[in-house]
Amino acid sequence: MSEERKDPLHSNIRAARAIVNTVRTTLGPRGRDKMMVDAGGNAIITNDGATILREIEAGHPAAKMIIDISKTQESLCYDGTTSTVVLAGQMLADSENLFSKGVHPSLVCDGYNKAARMAVEYLDENLSYEPDEDDLLRVAETAISGKTLASAKDIVSRLCVDAVKAAGDADKVNVLSFPGGALTDSHLFRGVVVNRDYAIEMDIPVESNVVLLMSGLESEKEMEHLQIQVTDMQQYEAVRRRAGQTLTQKVKTVASMLPNGGVLFTRDNVEDSALAYLHKNGIAVVKRIQESIMRSLSSAIGIRVSHSIDDLETAAPCKIVRQKHNDVHYLFVEGEVESTQSTLIIRGASHTTLDEVERGFDDALGVVSLVMNGGKIVAGGGSTYAAIASHLRTEAPKIQGMEQMAINSFADTLEIIPATIGEVAGHTPLNCVFSLRNAIAEGMYTFGPDVEKINEIVDMKEIGVVEPVQLVRQAILSATEVTTAILKIDDIVVKRGEQ
Ligand code: ADP
Ligand code: MG
Repeated sequence: MSEERKDPLHSNIRAARAIVNTVRTTLGPRGRDKMMVDAGGNAIITNDGATILREIEAGHPAAKMIIDISKTQESLCYDGTTSTVVLAGQMLADSENLFSKGVHPSLVCDGYNKAARMAVEYLDENLSYEPDEDDLLRVAETAISGKTLASAKDIVSRLCVDAVKAAGDADKVNVLSFPGGALTDSHLFRGVVVNRDYAIEMDIPVESNVVLLMSGLESEKEMEHLQIQVTDMQQYEAVRRRAGQTLTQKVKTVASMLPNGGVLFTRDNVEDSALAYLHKNGIAVVKRIQESIMRSLSSAIGIRVSHSIDDLETAAPCKIVRQKHNDVHYLFVEGEVESTQSTLIIRGASHTTLDEVERGFDDALGVVSLVMNGGKIVAGGGSTYAAIASHLRTEAPKIQGMEQMAINSFADTLEIIPATIGEVAGHTPLNCVFSLRNAIAEGMYTFGPDVEKINEIVDMKEIGVVEPVQLVRQAILSATEVTTAILKIDDIVVKRGEQ
């Protein structure tokens, strides 16, 4: 009988912890980077837990469960993925101690669930607080500390706050990165960047009128999609002529909307003959634009996107600047109306660093968005976990039976976050934990490891290390969920593969 069959619980715990160990040392501002290389020799260098876990080929189901919670954390909170898996790894390790003392796995699960509820309640009611304007910048800075972006943290945090403010939500911020230049050249462009060029190159004045068409200008296409029954050649010719005429008419309508020239943006194709006619009339065409960009253009310029020529909206003025990056031409379009459209233009040295820079921006934009949309904040650096741990230890004696042990064990687990942030920065982890416990006993709840001075602690709130409370809440809930799920498995059965 295989080891897994004999002892599935321990084999699951071992596999899950092995995965956790690959990301452990990336935690915190002194976190190390990982270089991941695939069989083809392609490398990525990252410090981002979720990215590392996504790239790892995990064969063991328990390892996959750990990878899944990192994805959940990322999709809900944008950040905090390493913390979540490190917490889960430690919770699993600590549960083994409880088993060795004779506590049954199901009692461990009950105790952990109760502890998680108590933890979250204390977190929400006692540790979190309303952010002020400056905290938005601090939250962004905390998210990028230790990442490539930290070298330009003032600029980056300001950009992230401005970008989310303009768009309202991180998911609505358009991000574009161009290799070359310096990180400090990154900026927020108050408009839309179209990753297409004029179909026929021509000199278009920067201030031009534009028309938006959510379809194309083609005669063939119409013939392809229309089903017409014709009985003789004459009828066929008539239909053909009508289709051709329609195209000419359509093109003329567009031209009449732009009597002094301008630009036509379309979602679909524009036939060569149409391009040529429009070109002659001083109208440039930008075709095959993604629908989402067409909508962004519409909001930036302040005109509706028309689906057909018949309901074409009048042209509107805007500013168009053509720029070349890496052999590709882009059009930077700015409307004259107030709009939420803005694009974060990220500059950075090389492709490898640029990816990491983008990931950093994603985290920072995300956390700013959480806070801007009503989220409270807490002090970072693992201080919150340490404060919750102390609270649980005070409450545990009030709980009867074996569950009390599980709650105490849960408290120990939480301290792995400040301990690891400290350890990675060169502290002795236990030393760090005891200093924090002492600080908390004296009413200093917001202290965490000082990553500048070995074995010292510092007030995280005071040095501006703050993060959304959701990050900590979700990390605790996800880690508990995956741990209890793994502890409940008492057998691994190989199932038949899909045929
Ligand atoms: P995660 O994937 O969990 O976000 P990170 O490597 O980004 O992992 O580390 C996040 C942790 O580092 C958070 O607990 C955060 O509060 C902490 N942190 C950030 N900046 C500092 C700092 N200057 N000093 C101490 N801790 C910090
Ligand atoms: Mg982070």
